[in-house]
Amino acid sequence: MNILLVGPIASGKGTQAQKLIEKYNLAHLEMGGLLRSITKEESPLGYKVKDFLDNGKLVTDEIVVEIVENYLQSIGKLDGILFDGFPRILSQAKFFEDFLRRKDLKIDIVLSLTLPKEEILSRILNRRTCEKCGKIYNVVTKPPKVEGVCDDCGGKLVTRSDETPEKTATRIAWFEKEVIPMINYYKEKGMVEEVDGNRPVEVIFEDIVSRLQKRGLINA
Ligand code: AMP
Repeated sequence: MNILLVGPIASGKGTQAQKLIEKYNLAHLEMGGLLRSITKEESPLGYKVKDFLDNGKLVTDEIVVEIVENYLQSIGKLDGILFDGFPRILSQAKFFEDFLRRKDLKIDIVLSLTLPKEEILSRILNRRTCEKCGKIYNVVTKPPKVEGVCDDCGGKLVTRSDETPEKTATRIAWFEKEVIPMINYYKEKGMVEEVDGNRPVEVIFEDIVSRLQKRGLINA
């Protein structure tokens, strides 16, 4: 079972991805994470990728495809792949289809997590991140025990520099302009299940499981 998971920032995509890979023994192709780890390499590719990421730009298709190729070769025997962050825009989706076909692979379902704009903004503005271990809190819905201090490691909780109202609005606009056309492309192919992300984590996950069942991708 190969799944493509899409959703705007703060839609809970990372949380649902984690639950899916654990429950269904899937490889997790998380493009953003793969790219971030490459930036730590002291290599020409590492510097090149870092430049794109620092400037908030999409890495070229050429690099991304090479990463996917390497990733697919590196995974052992698993029950499928969870694509997260790739394909990301329409051109990548079209290109990727041929690429996968050549490898005898296909995406079985596109899970599209949805969240109203106001909720995205409120989640981001209430979000605090531990500068030491990266744990994420929400000062309203998931506050730390002691204000400003991480429950797990005692690190300081900060607002990330890219989590301002302006930058968040820009990211939402980008999602609408670039990602929605890709989702629509998959919709026309009947591959999309739209999942309301404005609910508790477990409720969303149960909903996702029922969509997988409905499509015969897992047993009831
Ligand atoms: P993310 O963690 O998904 O927000 O991704 C972090 C950064 O990685 C993005 O801002 C892009 O610069 C880059 N990136 C992630 N996915 C892709 C992709 N499919 N194609 C090109 N660049 C990507």
